[in-house]
Amino acid sequence: MIQITMPLNMLGMVYREIRQSLVDMGELFGLLDQPAEISDAPDAGALRVTEGAVSFDNVAFGYDPERPILKGVSFSIQPGETLAIVGPSGAGKSTIGRLLFRFYDVSGGAIRIDGQDLRSVTQDSLHATIGIVPQDTVLFNDTLFYNIAYGRPEATREEVYAAARAAHLHAFIADLPDGYDTQVGERGLKLSGGEKQRVGIARTLLKNPPIVLLDEATSALDTATERDIQDSLRAIGEGRTVITIAHRLSTVVEADRIVVLEDGTVAEQGTHADLLAQGGRYATLWEAQARQGRDEA
Ligand code: ADP
Ligand code: MG
Repeated sequence: MIQITMPLNMLGMVYREIRQSLVDMGELFGLLDQPAEISDAPDAGALRVTEGAVSFDNVAFGYDPERPILKGVSFSIQPGETLAIVGPSGAGKSTIGRLLFRFYDVSGGAIRIDGQDLRSVTQDSLHATIGIVPQDTVLFNDTLFYNIAYGRPEATREEVYAAARAAHLHAFIADLPDGYDTQVGERGLKLSGGEKQRVGIARTLLKNPPIVLLDEATSALDTATERDIQDSLRAIGEGRTVITIAHRLSTVVEADRIVVLEDGTVAEQGTHADLLAQGGRYATLWEAQARQGRDEA
């Protein structure tokens, strides 16, 4: 990550866009050395987002054709809804995010945004449509202002402040001696996990994409931080379609729909109340996490 962003950093304005998508992908996939095998179809047009509806229709995929990872996954997200994806480690949750960003093509079925198959649109237009808030936001060795404005470099100061306010970061920054000019990153102020994630949220708010993919940090945040960041996450959900790979109970409970992924298939889906009432896997998972929460409290 560092090796590739540093030299690109020096190339200046022209490369901002390229770097943005590299970072988006790097943050999502946790690696940058993977070859992008996907190219635009000869007749690909720009994705036209009218509402922000997303559908996975019987999606099959494996990194290695011999080893299927997703085995016919179907779900749909209505415009403006928040969908939470939960399930055990290795179930294929992050893979769903990679496919939505079209880092790979599906081997069966289709993914559509507002009815348009991802394979029929340009990748540039797709990447402009989806904002990613990764598990671990990458900070550049630069000022806080730069790090937030990075979501949309041509943004005005007021727009950057507004994004920071909505991400509940403005008061924290205003209290620093150098404010928005505070240096962060390896040689600057060290931000906590929650603060870094809020920088990621502010960036995405500034980019203002109609669809947001959020990979929540797996490491359990303490309850106060979780409650704190919840407000920023709500700001992201306003008027947008959100897919969250969810680890926080609060996110799951508030989601419009929950998909329980297990071994590459949708084991259950519904609202929190639906799934609790079903008394299946989700209910078991919930009970275990709630018990753990009580033990920690
Ligand atoms: P989750 O996010 O639910 O923990 P992932 O979607 O990351 O699961 O991974 C699902 C499965 O795909 C895992 O078995 C994982 O080892 C495998 N996998 C993930 N990424 C790759 C990759 N780049 N190449 C090969 N296998 C992968
Ligand atoms: Mg994952």
